[in-house]
Amino acid sequence: MADKHSRLDGPLCTAHRQAMADIRNIVVLTGAGISAESGIDTFRSAGGLWEQHRVEDVATPEAFARDPDLVLRFYDMRRANIQKAYPNAAHDALARLDQYWQGNLLIVTQNVDDLHERAGAERLIHMHGEHLSAWCLSCDGRTRWHAPLSDRPACPQCGEAALRPDIVWFGEMPYRMDEIDRAIGQCDLFVSIGTSGAVYPAAGYVRTARHYGARTLELNLDPSQGSIMFHECRMGRATDLVPAWVDEMLTHQAERL
Ligand SMILES: [Zn+2]
Repeated sequence: MADKHSRLDGPLCTAHRQAMADIRNIVVLTGAGISAESGIDTFRSAGGLWEQHRVEDVATPEAFARDPDLVLRFYDMRRANIQKAYPNAAHDALARLDQYWQGNLLIVTQNVDDLHERAGAERLIHMHGEHLSAWCLSCDGRTRWHAPLSDRPACPQCGEAALRPDIVWFGEMPYRMDEIDRAIGQCDLFVSIGTSGAVYPAAGYVRTARHYGARTLELNLDPSQGSIMFHECRMGRATDLVPAWVDEMLTHQAERL
């Protein structure tokens, strides 16, 4: 019997269970919804405004060129905030999947916090960059970074005061797209957790996964803009849905062995 969040029951449920039992290679996409339960909000959640500034005025290369102090202060605040937050049961569950899943697994996150890795996940790509990384515009080096950038510290690698947040801003190319595309093309199951389904290229991954024959599952608080594209959608809190799904996958794996 499918759980109460699932659309599937009866014969479909049997087919679903069989499909899940055959899964070897998984790609998981995570978005703001998984970090929201750790108290990390997005500036979109506040109506797209920060101190009366629009998103476009703090998260673009043009904004950084026009008013670097404003942009660096904004990211200093966010960098400080994520360091006060803790991974939740959904991050812990994905780390457990990473530890025990014997097939291929790639966790692609749109989040720029470090909660997945603090929970212990290793097979992880930050497609939109990371708050705890600084990128030097002088030497192109990247350095783990926990402190403010608005006081213009010197780059540890070249000594120039040319560090910016290592965040993919609007209009910039997400990171490691080739690796992500390859993993999606080879996966048996694509799972989207807590994403709006509104930000491309990530919003297009479900379509790509289906094109290559993968099953697709959405775990989300509310239906996303892309929900209709998924074989199955389960609605609820990430801290409930993700541990249950991970248990399900690890049980299927154990039954195969
Ligand atoms: Zn440098």
